[in-house]
Amino acid sequence: MNVYDSGRMAEMLAALGYATTDSPDDADMVILNTCHIREKAAEKVYSEIGRLNKIRDGKIKNGNGRSILAVTGCVAQAEGEQILARAPYVDMVFGPQTYHRLPQMIAEATRARGHVLHTDFPAESKFDELGSARTVNGASAFLTVQEGCDKFCTYCVVPYTRGSEYSRPARDVLLEANELAKAGAKEITLIGQNVNAYHGSSPDGDGSWNLASLIRSVAEIESVERIRYSTSYPAEVNDELISAHRDIEKLMPNLHLPVQSGSDKILKAMNRGHSGAQFRALVEKIIKVRPDISLSSDLIIGFPGETDADFEDTYNLARDIGFVQTYSFKFSPRPGTPAAMMDAQVEDHVMSERLDRLQALLAENTLRFNRETVGKTLPVLFDRVGKQPGQMVGRSPHMQPVVVEATPEIMHQIAEVKIRQSSAGSLGGVLINAGNKERFYA
Ligand code: SAH
Ligand code: SF4
Repeated sequence: MNVYDSGRMAEMLAALGYATTDSPDDADMVILNTCHIREKAAEKVYSEIGRLNKIRDGKIKNGNGRSILAVTGCVAQAEGEQILARAPYVDMVFGPQTYHRLPQMIAEATRARGHVLHTDFPAESKFDELGSARTVNGASAFLTVQEGCDKFCTYCVVPYTRGSEYSRPARDVLLEANELAKAGAKEITLIGQNVNAYHGSSPDGDGSWNLASLIRSVAEIESVERIRYSTSYPAEVNDELISAHRDIEKLMPNLHLPVQSGSDKILKAMNRGHSGAQFRALVEKIIKVRPDISLSSDLIIGFPGETDADFEDTYNLARDIGFVQTYSFKFSPRPGTPAAMMDAQVEDHVMSERLDRLQALLAENTLRFNRETVGKTLPVLFDRVGKQPGQMVGRSPHMQPVVVEATPEIMHQIAEVKIRQSSAGSLGGVLINAGNKERFYA
């Protein structure tokens, strides 16, 4: 979502004459978009601000003027005052719900040369102020449809930093999807902190739409060939969404479904709203309608009170389901969350041992899945040039990077590839000579 937010900020600033640059040395303004989910991410912010300030000092010395230094994202939301206290040279601090005020904030920062701090949760929605016009960098685009969270998992800062659940009206989402399609998006990923809790007003304004209705309507946009959604909350997956995986061909057979733990005791302490058995049953239901679906997940290791037996439950669940890709991290105590204050915090070396074991298993899963893909022919959406000359890289329906020899004209196109090799991180293959795809041969 930070990628999406950064894109929207860049679009908005373009109207004020700003353009993006690859290096902070050239920048008239640097906006650091931050993440508060784990301590490591949040702490990195302060060293990064210091580094950016040094670059700015160098620019001033060379007579290149004083640039604006801004911090946004969830660290700004959660620690706005602290940032200004620890790094008083920062000009602007604003949260993820107020960036539509950037023109006003820049004017304030330039005029007053004081601090600008906007970390309220405004009554107006930023989306109304941003409009629907979009630019697309490549052929894949994110589209925020839902934001915030009311679930209050006991370890998580999101409900505090992103605010309560909000769903954009379906009409606005469809308008933006059409804009993205016009700007060249062939793949749209509908995003939200709990994207499947989406319940926006229907286009006629009379009722409410869920995520499945949104997916169906986005699928009607002809030039959009692939649809994905992320991140889902397991307890909010309904039958209509499961059916969408059967009925809508454009909906990719890859689903990110965070489970966090396989232990019922820990899931309860996390306030996740489902048991291990319920998660397994849900996965079975999805696989039944879409047997080729690949699943990825998030796992937290070392939640307070996690015993060897609890970890074993997590390990077994990950093994049985065979997640092909996971984000697994040690539990990070976050300020203000109930879990940070719980007894029986797990020692770091125990967390490390468990995490290593789990990650070894997950790496095996990925390797096996990639190996099983060899011999298959898959549609690949090409989105970058490869490391070697003459190579192009794209994504399979399962998000695997696929490397082929092809001419750059294939960029942003979908072409059929026969998979010949696999490794832990990617697949290699050859283009299938089908119709006009011939022109992509290197
Ligand atoms: N809404 C999604 C997840 C969004 S947060 C869901 O409910 O599943 C993204 C991921 O960050 C979570 O899935 C979780 O695995 C991780 N995470 C959140 N808080 C954490 C913490 N305190 N320590 C470690 N990982 C955490
Ligand atoms: Fe955080 Fe997801 Fe739980 Fe919400 S549902 S509190 S975003 S982990």
